[in-house]
Amino acid sequence: MNRKRILITGGAGFIGSHLCERLLEQGNDVVCMDNLFTGQKDNIRHLMDNPYFEFIRHDILEDIHVECDQIYNLACPASPIHYQYDPIKTGKTNVLGALHTLGLAKRCHARILQASTSEVYGDPEIHPQPETYRGCVNPNGVRSCYDEGKRMAETLFFDYHRQHHVDIKVVRIFNTYGPRMRSDDGRVVSNFIVQALKGDDITIYGNGEQTRSFCYVDDLVDGMVRMMESRDNFTGPVNLGNTGEFTMLQLAKMIIAVTGSKSKIVYMPLPQDDPIQRKPVIDLAKQELGWEPVVPLEEGLIKTIDYFKKAI
Ligand code: NAD
Ligand code: UDP
Repeated sequence: MNRKRILITGGAGFIGSHLCERLLEQGNDVVCMDNLFTGQKDNIRHLMDNPYFEFIRHDILEDIHVECDQIYNLACPASPIHYQYDPIKTGKTNVLGALHTLGLAKRCHARILQASTSEVYGDPEIHPQPETYRGCVNPNGVRSCYDEGKRMAETLFFDYHRQHHVDIKVVRIFNTYGPRMRSDDGRVVSNFIVQALKGDDITIYGNGEQTRSFCYVDDLVDGMVRMMESRDNFTGPVNLGNTGEFTMLQLAKMIIAVTGSKSKIVYMPLPQDDPIQRKPVIDLAKQELGWEPVVPLEEGLIKTIDYFKKAI
């Protein structure tokens, strides 16, 4: 009786596929929609025989009609190399993706959650970053298609809420890692693990002193589901991330130690507008969702390394 029909855009991607799994386990009916740009059928192949799971190959630039009670909007490439591959399309995916999913939520009276990002804070001058910080974003740099696209998506979410009373939830996701990241994804955790396992050089961009806070995917999915189920009128935005902060050099050394690799560390130029530091304040998530991450970095890395040992 309580089975909900849930649409997940970007459901065949890294985070989306874990979310599909979790929502099916909870007894829901899941519709996974994806254009397979960075997502892969392999991520959801094990769900295909489940009678409560459907896959729709569709590009969110086109409007979509699916009867549903809840929508998680994740469709958007997340890795810098992938979102910069066709930046105009990335901008469109964020804006049209928000408009199409919000229009659908309005028609179906569905609750809708937006996968926003810590990138809305840009290269932050405030550290750590609370939700009240408005960010320091370059509007016309190489990362802007993603950062400004996600900022515009947040704007549309809040305008649909104010103007049409759509039941919105916005989470700002900080760097998340785990099994099912692509080996050619280009993000730091997957790059370093693949390089360490192959014995290739570990490529640190810049001097390696820039920091990030890494959240294991199971913790993140738990936070997203709690946000979707949170009290009426709690819209967020709410930060979801791990508060452990590491330099990229520390991360490289940890991955070398855990894999027992003989890889050397090499230094390469820092990409344009690469944020120097990033760490979430998660007081709001603790208070409203009773959520905080439980998987320490080393434990999450071991699980991710096990995955990549089989995948590559
Ligand atoms: P991902 O690239 O694995 O997943 C994105 C999915 O969206 C892919 O399956 C891709 O094929 C699909 N997609 C892209 N463009 C589409 C389009 N036009 N139409 C339909 N589907 C499309 O990345 P991820 O890490 O799983 O990220 C999922 C979401 O979470 C993204 O919105 C991302 O911005 C957000 N996010 C992720 C992180 C992170 O650290 N992983 C951090 C902040 C925000
Ligand atoms: N990075 C790195 N080597 C790599 C890939 C990334 O040193 O092979 C750095 C990157 O410059 C950034 C940090 O790692 O400072 C995190 O990069 P990622 O692309 O994973 O995420 P984002 O920059 O979006 O937080």
